[in-house]
Amino acid sequence: MDGLARTAKRVTPAEHPHLSGMDDGLLDAVVAGTARLTHEQALDILQAMPTPALARWADARCRVLHGDRIRSYVIDRNINYTNVCTARCTFCAFRRGADDHDSYTLSYEAIHEKIGELVAIGGTQILMQGGMNPALPLTWYEGLLRSIKEKFPRVHVHAFSPPEFIEFVNFFDPPGATLEAKLRYVMERLVDAGLDSLPGGGGEIFAHPVRRKIGLGKCDAEAWLTTMWVAHSLGLFTSATMMFGHIEGLADRVHHMGLARAWQDRALAQQGPARGRHGREVGFGHYKAFISWPFQRENTPLGRLPDWGERSGDEGEFPGDIVARAFGFGANPEVDYRTLGPGAAEFGRRVRRSGAVNYLRTQALSRLMLDNFYSIGASWVTMGPHVGQAGLKFGASDMGSVMMEENVVSSAGTTYCLDEAVLCRLIRDAGFLPAQRDNVYDVLRVHDGPESPDLRVRDWSAHRARRLHTQNAASDAGLEVSSAPLAVTVSARAPDAAPVRST
Ligand code: SF4
Repeated sequence: MDGLARTAKRVTPAEHPHLSGMDDGLLDAVVAGTARLTHEQALDILQAMPTPALARWADARCRVLHGDRIRSYVIDRNINYTNVCTARCTFCAFRRGADDHDSYTLSYEAIHEKIGELVAIGGTQILMQGGMNPALPLTWYEGLLRSIKEKFPRVHVHAFSPPEFIEFVNFFDPPGATLEAKLRYVMERLVDAGLDSLPGGGGEIFAHPVRRKIGLGKCDAEAWLTTMWVAHSLGLFTSATMMFGHIEGLADRVHHMGLARAWQDRALAQQGPARGRHGREVGFGHYKAFISWPFQRENTPLGRLPDWGERSGDEGEFPGDIVARAFGFGANPEVDYRTLGPGAAEFGRRVRRSGAVNYLRTQALSRLMLDNFYSIGASWVTMGPHVGQAGLKFGASDMGSVMMEENVVSSAGTTYCLDEAVLCRLIRDAGFLPAQRDNVYDVLRVHDGPESPDLRVRDWSAHRARRLHTQNAASDAGLEVSSAPLAVTVSARAPDAAPVRST
């Protein structure tokens, strides 16, 4: 269990709004967990703190929560069960209409086969998300979950992000007078069928002006957060995410983290048994982790917008920052950018991409801002192995998952794929012991001996296109597996290029 869950009565850290975000005394207290950053202080830090200092503070906070010794990873598999989607997010290269020639919905058998391959390499969890496909009834999802639990009872099913749940409510018209009640009805049915936890997909940027521009047909922030609240009330653990580096202002990133923190406070404040599902008493759930990553532009409508500074007239303040200032960390939720003068006119028509340094700064800020989140995940899937590794020095405690398959960001140009040995090596070379964790962040094994996946590799130059981890935990677990080969690339480079070498 994480440190937050163990805390009997958590005291919310005090804010000290009169201090600058750069104040060493304030940051010492943030590191110790006795002070909380305000929105303004967090924005100060993101805008102006030198990168080495920001890394040091975030790393110090991470060490208070997680110690100096181990950093974790998980073996799970992304399964995108359908690419048919009613939404038209402008940053998405994955969705298809039902009539498109390359639209698909996986059969139960195809999904079972993928899970069998995961189990064969010692995997413990599937992350299952899709488009929002109106052709699939609630019984399809229940049948899928039941069949998974029947065949793979020990596999944790981390599935269906809040936008999917909101569309379930729209598609299935469940009983209930409020959104919360309807969500609860659908979620209880899926939990009874085998759903274990919810991923934080679809978080993007919570600020209304941004979300309305990029998430066409996708739920708003309140619906997203309410879905997670319902999940927590059923005793489920979830994660929160943020996708940045597009049209948003820097203050929107801070507002996003602030909302996640506020709803986490609410969940953690629930003491003792939750209301329980179907009368059963369960502990309240909460967010386990926060993961952020920059927008991936390839093949997306949003990615076709010009970069800020590319056109004449782009000399002033970035329009997203102007709109974010007027939005005021949510104080003016209905702000209309068209009333904000000529500087805001290009809002939503220019993107400000985030490179590695900006990504690492944002991730480091999340470690300092989210005092009530246990884990911060490094996003090597989008940023590449070595930026992910650097993330371990910028406040991240977790390297995420080995990657057997990913379809959503890879549709937008990301092609990184790592196996367990490489992931372990990246963690070890960063100065930590790699530790495989489960879905609730309990450590399953610490790789501190010669049998560690990375230390068993004799020739890294020949390792890059090998199968994923050869350990077969399936027979131990008594689970059904597939013998399908799992050739993967462990480098983002061309197959004949030099292999990944961690430094
Ligand atoms: S990001 Fe998700 S919800 Fe949005 S269009 Fe793509 S598949 Fe649909």
